[in-house]
Amino acid sequence: LIALLTVAIAAVVIIALFLGHRMMRGLADVGSVSVCWQLIGRGRYGTVFRGCLHERCVAVKLFSSANRQNYVNERSIYSLPLLQQHDNIAHFLSADERKTADGRPEFLIVMDFYPHGCLSRYLSVHTVDWSTCCRMNHGVTRGLAFLHTELNRGDQYKPAVAHRDVTSRNILVRADLSCVLADFGLSMRLTGSRPCCPVDNDTMAISEVGTVRYMAPEVLGGALNLRDCEAALKQVDVYALGLLYWETFRRCSELFPGEAVPEYQLAFQAELGNHPSFEEMQILVAREKFRPRFPEAWKENSLVLRSLKETMEDCWDQDAEARLTAQCAEERLCELALLSTHTAIQNHRNLCHASSPLQMG
Ligand code: ADP
Ligand code: MG
Ligand code: MG
Repeated sequence: LIALLTVAIAAVVIIALFLGHRMMRGLADVGSVSVCWQLIGRGRYGTVFRGCLHERCVAVKLFSSANRQNYVNERSIYSLPLLQQHDNIAHFLSADERKTADGRPEFLIVMDFYPHGCLSRYLSVHTVDWSTCCRMNHGVTRGLAFLHTELNRGDQYKPAVAHRDVTSRNILVRADLSCVLADFGLSMRLTGSRPCCPVDNDTMAISEVGTVRYMAPEVLGGALNLRDCEAALKQVDVYALGLLYWETFRRCSELFPGEAVPEYQLAFQAELGNHPSFEEMQILVAREKFRPRFPEAWKENSLVLRSLKETMEDCWDQDAEARLTAQCAEERLCELALLSTHTAIQNHRNLCHASSPLQMG
């Protein structure tokens, strides 16, 4: 009787656990992807859930019918030749359309799941060491440089593409802390058969997109150079890249020797808080030419710090044409990664004592 009772109780427990598990996760089938409705992210256009595809963990980005254009665009960018072979571009798996219970269409993009989520989330809970910090930023820059490049390989053609929404929320972090560029919903082909060629009523659509906080001064000021749209939109991406470097290196432990690393902040968060308006950004960035402040700890002009600050400034220059290209920024990041902070700062101290300022090459 006891044995029977034990078996019965075990059975009840197992069934309850199974049902509870299913109810908690609300398993639903999306094509061959089973989505456990665990929300992992929410952006302006899509809601992202964790799912399973052939026992592999994936992310599913769901777009409502109102955001169909964003979905179509993102899918078309992910489908460009050669794009998926790059290590610093988010890995796309498939795209699909389906009907909701009440008959409305919705759209989904299935992609690799990045366990650390977006860069800003990662940095808000972790500090990073110098080499990791360089590797993260180098990866993002390498991804952007690749995106910006027009390529012909055999019969495959990849147009140059502008991302147009470079932010720390649109960079995803792998388990090994390498980074990929993601969220191509606003991206635009710059070369090839359907490059951007603005006509008057398109001007707004071409220039004023993206996340307000990361908008370049020429976008905020309505002065984007549409005569050379290809260069102009790449320069807008590089401006945002500079802000991204600032956010990331501010969380680098080695750059704050003997003191606490400052809390994570988004660019301009200290000045304008969590929801800056277009007008506030316009005044601060376009009119007053304000840029994020470097921490006190970076005052020392060691080779590393000088090189780092210069790289940021050369990315977010007010004069769009004076900015680095993504390719140049990638080289700068390579050079930075080779400098060991400790020895560089030490060398500088020694040189200062001999009253001979260190010159940047
Ligand atoms: P939107 O176009 O609406 O901004 P995103 O593609 O940027 O949507 O995704 C919104 C958020 O979801 C991201 O900032 C990130 O935190 C999270 N996210 C997106 N894709 C993934 C993924 N593949 N793995 C993990 N988290 C993701
Ligand atoms: Mg996004
Ligand atoms: Mg988007």
